[in-house]
Amino acid sequence: MIQFSPLRIFLSAGHHDKDPGAVANGYKEADVTKLIRDSIVRNSEDKNIVVDKDWETNRQYQNRIKPGAGSVIFDIHLNAAANNTTRGVESYVNRKDFANKNSASYKMADEVNLFLSKELGIKNRGVKPENSSQHSTIGILNLGSGIAVLVEVDFITGTGAVENIMVKKDIIGKGLAKILKKYDDLVQ
Ligand SMILES: [Zn+2]
Repeated sequence: MIQFSPLRIFLSAGHHDKDPGAVANGYKEADVTKLIRDSIVRNSEDKNIVVDKDWETNRQYQNRIKPGAGSVIFDIHLNAAANNTTRGVESYVNRKDFANKNSASYKMADEVNLFLSKELGIKNRGVKPENSSQHSTIGILNLGSGIAVLVEVDFITGTGAVENIMVKKDIIGKGLAKILKKYDDLVQ
C-alpha cells in the first residue's frame, strides 16, 4: 500500500531487524535508534507522524513513503569510531541543501545539532553534506521532500554514550518532536 502523504513528518530509526548497524559496548545501533524514534513519537503532539517498521529494509521503507515538497524527513543514526573517546553529534543534508545555508534542511540540521549537543553534553560536530559521509549520496535525503535531515546522535563506540542517551531519552524525544513540528509547520 502506498501512502501518499505529502505534508507529513516521516521519522525513521536507521537500520532494522536484519541490519543492526554499528555494534559496540554491548549495544546495537538499531536498538538505540528505535529507542530515540519511539521517544519522539511518544512525546509528539502530532499523531500523524509516519514511522518505519522495524522489519522493513531501507529500500522497503523508502518505497512505501511518498514524501512531497512540504514534508519533513528525519532519519536517526549513531556514529562509530575506532576509539572509545570520540563523541559528538553531526547532521547530514543533501548537497543542494548544504550549498544553501538558508535552506530549511540546513537550518533544521543546525538546530538538531545545537539541541542534542546541549542536552547530551557532547560536541557539536556541525552540519555536513552527504558526500562527506561514507556514501556519495544518501538515498533518504534525496526523495524529493522539502526538508530532509539524517542525524548521527553520538558515537555508539564512545564510553557512556548509549547510557547517556537512555537516561535522557524523554528530554531528547520531546525536544526533537518540537523541532520536527516546527519545520513541518514551516513548509506548507
Ligand atoms: Zn547507521
